[in-house]
Amino acid sequence: MSTTQDAIAAAEAHSAHNYHPLPVVVATAEGAWMTDVEGRRYLDMLAGYSALNFGHGNRRLIDAAKAQLERVTLTSRAFHHDRFAEFCARLAEFCGMESVLPMNTGAEAVETAVKTVRKWGYRVKGVPEGTAKIVVAAGNFHGRTTTIVSFSTDPEARADHGPYTPGFEIVPYGDLTALGAALSDNAVAVLLEPIQGEAGVLVPPPGYLAGVRRLTRERDVLFVADEIQSGLGRTGRTFACEHEGVVPDVYVLGKALGGGIVPVSAVVSSAAVLGVHRPGEHGSTFGGNPLACAVALEVLAMLRTGEYQQRAAELGDHLHRELGLLVDGGAVREVRGRGLWAGVDVDPSRGTGRQVSERLLERGVLVKETHGSTIRLAPPLTISKEDLDWGLERLREVLAG
Ligand code: PLP
Repeated sequence: MSTTQDAIAAAEAHSAHNYHPLPVVVATAEGAWMTDVEGRRYLDMLAGYSALNFGHGNRRLIDAAKAQLERVTLTSRAFHHDRFAEFCARLAEFCGMESVLPMNTGAEAVETAVKTVRKWGYRVKGVPEGTAKIVVAAGNFHGRTTTIVSFSTDPEARADHGPYTPGFEIVPYGDLTALGAALSDNAVAVLLEPIQGEAGVLVPPPGYLAGVRRLTRERDVLFVADEIQSGLGRTGRTFACEHEGVVPDVYVLGKALGGGIVPVSAVVSSAAVLGVHRPGEHGSTFGGNPLACAVALEVLAMLRTGEYQQRAAELGDHLHRELGLLVDGGAVREVRGRGLWAGVDVDPSRGTGRQVSERLLERGVLVKETHGSTIRLAPPLTISKEDLDWGLERLREVLAG
């Protein structure tokens, strides 16, 4: 059995250092708990940034994956397979939309959305070739491809990856006046996270998403909601847009859609919008593969019960009440979020986000810092109230010093 130190040293020696993980080496996991190579147990309060909404080793999802593994796992889109139509139909129906374009990772789905709305702009809206503009928000996080980092405002994510892709205008998040001013005739879409995850779980001001919906409709511009992290139950509703009664033109989904087992992402929209693609113009070898479809179908079946959304809402209320007490006590400056999702700005006198994360690790709780003194909490939606309280107690200890 390798020790934590050995495993980390070997990883450092043989991998690119594009991450700064906490010093824990996970060997197994079940439910909301992970066990490291030395047998220590940790409560997972991050859940793969929402990819593990249903917990580790979820029985229903594992069974669905195993059954499909024995049948067929990959055909490529050169041929049809017998899980594809069912997956697309169920996902479209689940989203109240008509059509699905499946991919694998979140960034690929965002890229797909970018290509789709540009094509829609040229082929449907009639924007002059090569001039389409997509309006995005400052502080966004939509992935890591060269086009996506081209419109990132995070210098770490963007630096030294140019030349950058043009065609994006960045406006302040939450500012409807700025957004309205950016919607010129060549604007084809507004691309937004309904709650900005990586930025520190920033919830926009009330009325913002509804305002974006109104403005985009008035100006014949598509509203693309990146619900890769916020969607599929995390906020206590199926989609974060629902909190403002908003239905966008395009959903971009990922993370939890693959149940934490396989990467599954998708762009979901109307037949008119996704109908702009013709054979050969876009694709992916693994996108919509049978294994991905089988797991995602089970994810959709679970979400259709509403049970996970309800858990996230109820436990989320509890989580935010408890975190609010830490604000009152002065250990925390601000808490943001909805459902089982919180950005916690620790008072800098109690340490940086990294230091707080490391102290929590020592006490058996896994979270991860975002910027400065912010930590992000996003436990599996299947976490028990007792485990959640246990994790919160460890946070109180750590912040008490
Ligand atoms: N969009 C949002 C809102 C995200 O939070 C993420 C990942 O954190 C992505 C896109 C990118 O997803 P992936 O890492 O699967 O490419």
